Amino acid sequence: MRLPHGEGLVGLAATTGQPVVTARAREHPQYKYFPETGEERFDSFMAVPMIVQGATIGVLAVQTIEPREFDSNEVEIFRTCAQLIAPVVINAQLLALVETSDEEASQAAAEREALEGRASDREEQNIEHRGIPTSRGIAIGTIYRLETPLDLERLHYTPNSDPEREVQELMDAIGEARRVLDGMREKLGSKFGLDLAAVFQTHIQILEDKGFVTKLRKEALATGNALAALTNVIGTYRKTFQRMSDPYFRERVTDIEDVGQRVMESLLGERHHTTPLSEGAIVVASNLLPGMFARLEIEKIAAIVSEHGGPTSHGAIFARTLEVPAVTGIPGIQAAVRSGETAIVDGGEGLIILSPDEGLLYEYRRAQQRYTVSIEHLDALRDRPAETRDGRAIRLTANVGLVSDLRLVDQHGADGVGLFRTEMLAFAHRGFPGEEEQAELYEHVAKSMAPRLVTIRTLDLGGDKEMPNVGMRLEDNPQLGCRSIRLSLANQGIFKAQLRAIYRASAAGNVRLMLPMITSIDEVRSAKALIAEAIQDLERAGIPYDKNVPVGLMIEVPAAAITADALARECDFFSIGTNDLTQYTLAVDRGNENVAHIYDPLHPAVLALIDASVRAASRANIPISVCGEMSSNPLAVPLLVGLGIQELSSTPSAVPLVKEIIRELDFGDLEVDAREAQKAGTAAAVHQIGAARLRDAGLLEHPDIGPWLRTLVDKVFPSR
Ligand code: PEP
Ligand code: MG
Repeated sequence: MRLPHGEGLVGLAATTGQPVVTARAREHPQYKYFPETGEERFDSFMAVPMIVQGATIGVLAVQTIEPREFDSNEVEIFRTCAQLIAPVVINAQLLALVETSDEEASQAAAEREALEGRASDREEQNIEHRGIPTSRGIAIGTIYRLETPLDLERLHYTPNSDPEREVQELMDAIGEARRVLDGMREKLGSKFGLDLAAVFQTHIQILEDKGFVTKLRKEALATGNALAALTNVIGTYRKTFQRMSDPYFRERVTDIEDVGQRVMESLLGERHHTTPLSEGAIVVASNLLPGMFARLEIEKIAAIVSEHGGPTSHGAIFARTLEVPAVTGIPGIQAAVRSGETAIVDGGEGLIILSPDEGLLYEYRRAQQRYTVSIEHLDALRDRPAETRDGRAIRLTANVGLVSDLRLVDQHGADGVGLFRTEMLAFAHRGFPGEEEQAELYEHVAKSMAPRLVTIRTLDLGGDKEMPNVGMRLEDNPQLGCRSIRLSLANQGIFKAQLRAIYRASAAGNVRLMLPMITSIDEVRSAKALIAEAIQDLERAGIPYDKNVPVGLMIEVPAAAITADALARECDFFSIGTNDLTQYTLAVDRGNENVAHIYDPLHPAVLALIDASVRAASRANIPISVCGEMSSNPLAVPLLVGLGIQELSSTPSAVPLVKEIIRELDFGDLEVDAREAQKAGTAAAVHQIGAARLRDAGLLEHPDIGPWLRTLVDKVFPSR
């Protein structure tokens, strides 16, 4: 049956984006009877919208025969169900959305041929192409152009004479691909953590999609060629997805192509497997696909460069985790390179240089060596204590977002996790995982870090971290909108599931729970009431947990810093999120490059708020840390320590650097610096105080970090 948008109770839920709940549906003014449904047997009705990226993509409804009231808890649970189901629905809808257009395909092929002609003729050197910096590091190697097997012209395939047999071969290939995916999910899960392996679930879902399989079947019958059927069907899906204006949906092309390649490999068997990689290969691909890491010999890859894919795609997450330098988003790069030519990739700069001359190679080899040696050298010193020369100990912890990052915590010698960003799980999953999966992941983190502390922050989505299917709506001003703790409090079902998962993990290690973006005591009390309910749920179910999990607040908005005394009475610790604190204090969007020059955590106003928070924490006798990027900033570290901060949580690779700085300083001097900095009228003056301290401590002569610190200090004192 069909009903127009806005009609009936389901339509009401769709247009308002709100649940519709009634014990007697027929008495509702908006009720409309549709005989096709046979709904006259039912009385009570509850409908909740399924929302993805602010758009209602469907409505989930439940009815009962007996009239009954639905309480707020039931509505909340039902909303959570709808949010969890929404991505499955959107996947299915996307898969069903396919139409054909051949014109675009032939145009793309012509463009590609023209570019390839140019690449093979050229004699130029030092050809630079810039894209999106996706994973840091420098690589020098030989280009390996990863052909897309979906490009039929490059393959030789002889179909059977009987179309039915072609259909069967294709179905067998799908079954085989499914088995490979299952195996890969398991293999990656045990190697890098379940969160990364979850990516393959999306691919399995595509292979199981009825519409997809039916289309393949029909096309194979029509063409009598399994390979052509696969290429055509994947091609139509690709075109449909690429036409979508929303980048989230456009990125789904990656998943479809990865699945297509996998089926094709199964179909073609051993005969057509890609040629083996040579050592130190710079892989130039159409897209940075997660499957590449499993399929290619990862230890031979020096870097990856791709035409498509964004920095938050699954492939990008994999590249960073595996520390493979990567650049994405260079259209036409596959046609512009020649297989076997030398190239330099600078992942941090988002740069690839083709056929570099000797001078450039020499320069980059040195940069590469410096980078590697200093990292190795510092890592070798990881067991030294982080203590100032006059004996003030500072705890150095790490910010992580994926289970696989934990090995970096050990490698760089961090003393536990000061910030576990749980929203990263949601990105890796393309949705937020359920309670069981979360509990398993958090338990793993707690166990592997024990007895070190792990600070798990509840979901912090919104603002610049857009995420579909967790009840987020598109807002005009998302940084000031329903983000972070506000979103959690508005989606209590999801929030409570996360709280239970965190408490379940507390039995396995040393866990702290942290609430982001707190602006008022009311929010803290509401969150704590839900924590109490989550604990009760565990008690009732007889699930063990730690009764003394410290509950802390993030100081990320001026309101929290200014009322820190009152907030301190409500919690067990503070952690200052200077990324947001700077944004909200200086009214500068942290993601807007047009105002980036005003964004400065060393502004005296930000320091004053940090100072107020430290003092409040000290009066309440609770610990306080800093977990924004400021704790990785060499100019800021002396001032933060001087202000009384005793825990700095930073990017894992920055931990050794921060430690070296702290070990060369005297706390007594830093206290004086911090007082002076607060009196300074400008951020520039504060930079000078920090820079002068590094210089006076002799840190510019440090063999590993000296060169970098010198460039920072030179910017502060340009005339030196
Ligand atoms: C911060 O705001 O400083 C912080 C640590 O949180 P995030 O960067 O994840 O917003
Ligand atoms: Mg923040």
